[in-house]
Amino acid sequence: MDDTFTRFGAPEKYSGEDQKSLVELKKDAARFGIEFISGRQRHMGTSHVRRIIARFYQHLLDQGILVSLDNRIEQIERREDRFLLVGREKIDARYLIAAPGRAGAYWLREEAGRLGIITEYGPIDVGVRVEFPAEIYAPIEKVMYDAKLRVRTATYDDMVRTFCTNPRGFVVKESYDDFILVNGHAENDTKTENTNFALLSHIELTDPVEDTTEYGRAIAKLATTIGGGRPIIQRLKDLKNGRRSTDERLRRAMISPTFTGATPGDISMALPDRVLVNLREGLEQLNNIIPGLTADSTFLYAPEIKFYDTRYPVNPSMETQIPRFYVAGDASGHCRGIVYSAVSGLIAARAICAREGD
Ligand SMILES: Cc1cc2nc3c(=O)[nH]c(=O)nc-3n(C[C@H](O)[C@H](O)[C@H](O)COP(=O)(O)OP(=O)(O)OC[C@H]3O[C@@H](n4cnc5c(N)ncnc54)[C@H](O)[C@@H]3O)c2cc1C
Repeated sequence: MDDTFTRFGAPEKYSGEDQKSLVELKKDAARFGIEFISGRQRHMGTSHVRRIIARFYQHLLDQGILVSLDNRIEQIERREDRFLLVGREKIDARYLIAAPGRAGAYWLREEAGRLGIITEYGPIDVGVRVEFPAEIYAPIEKVMYDAKLRVRTATYDDMVRTFCTNPRGFVVKESYDDFILVNGHAENDTKTENTNFALLSHIELTDPVEDTTEYGRAIAKLATTIGGGRPIIQRLKDLKNGRRSTDERLRRAMISPTFTGATPGDISMALPDRVLVNLREGLEQLNNIIPGLTADSTFLYAPEIKFYDTRYPVNPSMETQIPRFYVAGDASGHCRGIVYSAVSGLIAARAICAREGD
């Protein structure tokens, strides 16, 4: 899998290979009750990814693969031993790998329910995107580009973690049908003065309400309402002082936000109190190894929510209980991120080829 990415242009270089620095960071983090999860990482960067995907795409076309773009599938119908995908164009298929990503996960869940496919509920992660001066993350970036840091919070003993760190990157908006979320990315050539990461509080619901998707969607819709259809941005100083941010207060910060389309507001009106307490305590703890993180000028953007909670029971080939109906990628509930999504698609595709004797 890794070879395929590099064959199509992913950089050869890894981050997180210097064992000595990894051990030092682990020790440093552990002193403050922070778990540092190390691992080798290949950073591609947004503009690189575009080029890599373009090469993947051309390769598929060269193999004679037909691609139907701009064809949003509204419905999946089951016709005896075949599937009919109903969109602008209809597609008749003997095998189906459904991989609509996070954007299509809710739609797929509805379709799966209609087709009688059983789904299970899993946890979700709810939080904010934190943006701060790039210099204060630089010592950690040298050890691992996107360091995964986890803490247990003091009040609720919940798990809070950093995710998707973008040194000198950008905060961006993710649009869904009913709400908006925030995310972050890093360009290869255009660097900013700021670094951002997601800070997420792990939520697991049990009896009597298990449907974390609906809970997460309710939070996302509330935050979207409070932000007037845009993400909310708040200075950490304003959050600590229990007041909303305004354009004027944002201008007093030492850094400028990389995403300028957010509404200055009050995140405490949008996120559940338990999540907010977790995030504030998590930030304080992380400040021990990223000194300056809890400075007044740090920006928080909300909502950042990771939906990968609808999980399809599958066999080892990613096939659901409906024969020849496979799921892959983020929407399957088994993956988070590019590499796992790609691997799950490969597993399903290889299983189909094997069944067809190819
Ligand atoms: C800003 C940003 C930064 C990220 N950074 C990282 C990172 O650094 N590292 C990492 O590993 N991951 C990152 N991710 C996550 C990564 O992009 C996803 O995990 C990965 O793309 C999931 O792959 P997928 O194939 O499951 O879904 P996707 O890549 O989301 O593809 C699903 C496709 O299905 C289409 N679709 C949905 N519904 C329908 C429908 N009904 N009919 C037809 N088509 C439909 C969608 O339009 C989309 O094109 C980032 C995501 C974002 C948004």
